[in-house]
Amino acid sequence: MAEGLKEDYAVDGEGAKQPRQHPESKGSIVALPAEAEENHPAIESPEENALTAQSFEVAEGSAAPPSESEEGLSVPPPEMEEGSAAPPSESEEGLSAPPPEMEEGLSVPPPAQQRKSEELLFQEFIAQCESCDRCGLAAGRSNVVVWRGNIKAPLMIIGEGPGAEEDLQGKPFVGRSGQLLDQLLLAWDIREENFHICNIVKCRPPENRAPKPDEAENCRPLLTRQFNLVKPRVILLMGATAYKYFTHDNSGITKVRGKWIEKSGFWIMPTFHPAYILRDPRRKNDLWEDMGAARRKLTELKLLPELDT
Ligand code: SF4
Repeated sequence: MAEGLKEDYAVDGEGAKQPRQHPESKGSIVALPAEAEENHPAIESPEENALTAQSFEVAEGSAAPPSESEEGLSVPPPEMEEGSAAPPSESEEGLSAPPPEMEEGLSVPPPAQQRKSEELLFQEFIAQCESCDRCGLAAGRSNVVVWRGNIKAPLMIIGEGPGAEEDLQGKPFVGRSGQLLDQLLLAWDIREENFHICNIVKCRPPENRAPKPDEAENCRPLLTRQFNLVKPRVILLMGATAYKYFTHDNSGITKVRGKWIEKSGFWIMPTFHPAYILRDPRRKNDLWEDMGAARRKLTELKLLPELDT
């Protein structure tokens, strides 16, 4: 692993250090002031976030290997919509997601036409989210927070729910946690076109509390639809709440983080929420290693090129 990369994933008491901006990266890095998430309960004082570049030194072999306990785990991704295609086999080199199943006899549309119809489908999905009032969270929202990144992406990152800043901007992970996440993504050369970020629930829970089970359940059909539109192969679940609601497993995040769950060709990894890392920087190397493992998985699946180290 390139040592230089780790230097990019650091924050100090003055705020987040700017990550490397990849010259070809389409997206801009969201860099909000530190007070942007001050209402988030997971964020504590700047003193507690005083990370240094040295403290990112990772001990040899510190990455958590997959454990035997993964075996036999049956943790499904959100239910596949009827008719949606299974993920491609590894022999389908270069495919990041299968095309929608074509009716027999229809010719395959040219890529531009297909892209357009995918965008239309996604716009339709956004409209569905924006008009949703399936749970009580609808009443308190400023915006429905659906996604950022790329519509189609090999990596899907799922958090628990929008905070104050996310609610205001209508985008997930745009506060200090989002800054840290962006640093990690850039440091591992995962560009905006490679990821799709969303949450278990799309409306902000009051007082930034965790979503309740009925709220997560009501929002699940939307996440399922989103999943089927994005067609990821690798899924990172950020934090205990996202893990619990996605997998229906109540195991603690410390126990399951960094362990791959393979299900029907999807690769799912729970990891710490960046807000937790801001609160307890001692675990930042774990998040670093987990993002690295996701990057290596994307390479292994031939969805991203080898890291240029
Ligand atoms: S959280 Fe989800 S289910 Fe609840 S109102 Fe918002 S979009 Fe609908």
